[in-house]
Amino acid sequence: MATLGIPRNTIEILQKYHFNFQKKFGQNFLIDPTVLDRIIRAARITKEDCVLEIGPGIGTMTQYLAESAGSVVAVEIDQNLIPILKETLAEYDNVSIINDDILKVDLNKIVEEKNGGRPIKVVANLPYYITTPIIMGLFEKQVPLQSITIMVQKEVADRMQVGPGTKDYGALSLAVQYYAKPEIVANVPPNCFIPRPNVGSAVIRLTKYEQPPVTVRDVDRMFAIIRASFNQRRKTLVNGLGNAPELGLSKERVAHALEEMQLSPTVRGEALTLAQFARLSDLLGEM
Ligand code: SAM
Repeated sequence: MATLGIPRNTIEILQKYHFNFQKKFGQNFLIDPTVLDRIIRAARITKEDCVLEIGPGIGTMTQYLAESAGSVVAVEIDQNLIPILKETLAEYDNVSIINDDILKVDLNKIVEEKNGGRPIKVVANLPYYITTPIIMGLFEKQVPLQSITIMVQKEVADRMQVGPGTKDYGALSLAVQYYAKPEIVANVPPNCFIPRPNVGSAVIRLTKYEQPPVTVRDVDRMFAIIRASFNQRRKTLVNGLGNAPELGLSKERVAHALEEMQLSPTVRGEALTLAQFARLSDLLGEM
């Protein structure tokens, strides 16, 4: 089978199967061998690795992964792509395809079956409409993994990487940075895809921490506080958290905790570091 990273080969296979792109599935296929090489290198894949690919499309990146990894499991929602994948991946015996929705499959079970429960690496050119639920699902369900190397919308990559005091800083930044070290490894323009997306893209590697960088007594409470803080971004924490019914906190209690932390009573969530959210969560839990 010819290498699909070359645009001519991609177009040939799409025409052969009369494939129609489905916008609702976020289908933008990579057609740039340099970018594909860059993703594989950034993911630091060896023959020891089992790789989970989310949304293999016609199998372009899957071919690269099959060459460099020990084994590859690829989960693809669009059943029209399954016969194409059978053809494009026919020469690899280390690839298994699962025709399902990545948000519905039991990933812990897949890792158990395919890699004896040992940590996997996730590599994907993600469908952008479900970037956040995919990433949060991988972390929150505690899927055993070493790293996640993904193509995402440029703006979302920025959000994952930034710290306090910037406009992109928010609940996604804090969630990603609690679980992993984020590094943007490449910026990718729209002309590297077919069809072209109308946004810029970036490849980001999230290297999972063995231990989170901060300790907090109740992780769920901390993330509930973080979500409430950024739901009402322009409000002070005293007003935002004091008015959030799901937290059951009074304004006085929030003000008291902020005072204990020597923070201004008018501080907003966007100014707090992850360590400060952890401390605030512990203090509010104690009171
Ligand atoms: N990996 C291919 C490439 O780089 O050329 C395709 C990437 S394309 C951006 C995203 C892929 O994810 C598509 O093949 C799409 O059908 C698939 N997809 C969309 N939603 C999905 C879901 N919920 N579960 C699994 N795959 C999904």
